[in-house]
Amino acid sequence: MSAQPDIKTLRLVLGDQLNYQHSWFSSINMKVTYVMMELRSETDYTVHHVQKILGFFNAMRHFAEYLRAEGHHVIYRKLDDPENQQTFSENIKKLIEHLEFEQFEYQLPDEYRVDEELKSLSISLDIPVQVVDTEHFYTTRTEFSEIFKGKKSFLMESFYRKMRRKHSVLMNGDQPITGRWNFDHENRKKIPKSHAVTQPKLFHNDVEEVFNMIQDSGIQTIGSVDLKSFFWPIDRVQSLELLRFFVKECLPWFGTFEDAMTVHSWSVYHSRLSFSLNVKLLSPKEVVDTAINEWRTRPDEISFNQLEGFVRQILGWREFMRGVYWSCMPQFASMNYLDHQAQLPEWYWSGKTKMNCLKHAIDQSLAHAYAHHIQRLMITGNFALLAGVHPDEVDRWYLGVYIDAIEWVEITNTRGMSQFADGGIIGTKPYVSSAAYIDKMSDYCGTCFYNKAKKVGDRACPFNSLYWNFYDRHTHQLSGNPRITMMYRLWDKMSSSDKQAILKQAEFYLNNINQL
Ligand code: FAD
Ligand code: SF4
Repeated sequence: MSAQPDIKTLRLVLGDQLNYQHSWFSSINMKVTYVMMELRSETDYTVHHVQKILGFFNAMRHFAEYLRAEGHHVIYRKLDDPENQQTFSENIKKLIEHLEFEQFEYQLPDEYRVDEELKSLSISLDIPVQVVDTEHFYTTRTEFSEIFKGKKSFLMESFYRKMRRKHSVLMNGDQPITGRWNFDHENRKKIPKSHAVTQPKLFHNDVEEVFNMIQDSGIQTIGSVDLKSFFWPIDRVQSLELLRFFVKECLPWFGTFEDAMTVHSWSVYHSRLSFSLNVKLLSPKEVVDTAINEWRTRPDEISFNQLEGFVRQILGWREFMRGVYWSCMPQFASMNYLDHQAQLPEWYWSGKTKMNCLKHAIDQSLAHAYAHHIQRLMITGNFALLAGVHPDEVDRWYLGVYIDAIEWVEITNTRGMSQFADGGIIGTKPYVSSAAYIDKMSDYCGTCFYNKAKKVGDRACPFNSLYWNFYDRHTHQLSGNPRITMMYRLWDKMSSSDKQAILKQAEFYLNNINQL
């Protein structure tokens, strides 16, 4: 809990710090002014999806209104406000000077870039500065480094078990309530043809005003939006509604179809809570607790594997990625273990490819600013890795295209989990696959221009030859990895003429990548 100041204080609330439950807001203090700002430094540090900017600015405006309605004093700098200096530092310096604040306070930023800026700003100010926690995550910024002190790699499973124990989540004393930690085996099924996936809950927010401002300001964006029916939650009420919808309608299938992909649904049974979580409209603890309560009240409808699969994502993966980020930045942002140098294929920005799996994943990313985890990992990420794309290019795409993309959780997933550019800090092996896996988990291949069964020749699926080409070109970095020895054995067993044909096919595809 942060103490209430008794001197004239300016408190900064960042766009991803919309935490209605933060102790800052628990009482009204006339000495305190909150400042929130829409900035070119934030809209322009990468090219964002238009829905991402609309989501942030609308949620910020709602949050500022909420604070005002509660009786707090708020200064809100819109993007086109003539007073707006367009960076945190310049706006804050100007406000402190003009309104004679005696103290400046901010919550720990989640992004390294913003953290550095606010640290420099603090040094340059001649008034006291206080930094407080965001009161959002289960873990503190440094807790992860303490847990893995002296270790070369970080195992998510052991971190997750520690978190379960520490926060007493689904535990019976020191042991998991069911006697087992992991239910992956029961999960990850393909969606049967007869199963109709529940339609996602969508909101109908009018975002035209902010959209016009973005247009008039000349901000470059990607993707499209329905201005009268922006369907992402933009305040706490909507975020809670989406959480309720998820536990009621999707949780009973969450684990089972966690890795499934289908042309009939762009979000399957995923929660789509990442935006609300990442801007802190929801806390991870309340999301986990709500899911557990739902499971307790409907044990016959929600099997334990569904619940555990979901809790693992939030208490496990999400906290784990944050821990890796703060342990490994800034070095993490320039890692390129596999020395990949290629450019991202042009069709990542348009969806214009004949590969059905990629077309679906990219089209929906551009239309909805969303793809679910397995599309991000095993379709777009998988292809970029097989094609040897430079991790900077891959990061730029992921950071721009998704509504939930904030660097701490984007870069760790992209550069680490997906591109293996960290050499195995996050994953124990690269996540690559040929068409066989994609076909096993989806219905994409059946209607594809390419033939999933062919490695070479006319219309051979590009994933197949690129898959072997990937292993072949990285033999020296990967063949010693015990988790992939079997792939190298299979590759070694192939005749040299088959190998040559596969490598030739891969070379042809790599040379003509924009035409795939
Ligand atoms: P659900 O499947 O319903 O999962 C519930 C919640 O668990 C998510 O909302 C999220 O908060 C958390 N979660 C699940 N998996 C992860 C994970 N691997 N890391 C961290 N949290 C996780 N997530 C982001 O929030 N922002 C990103 O920019 C982002 N970029 C990604 C890039 C790549 C290449 C990959 C492979 C994954 C990325 N993820 C990212 C993780 C994950 O894909 C998204 O959190 C998830 O798809 C969001 O949709 P959802 O809310 O429906 O998730
Ligand atoms: Fe994707 Fe290949 Fe299947 Fe086509 S055949 S959908 S390119 S995996």
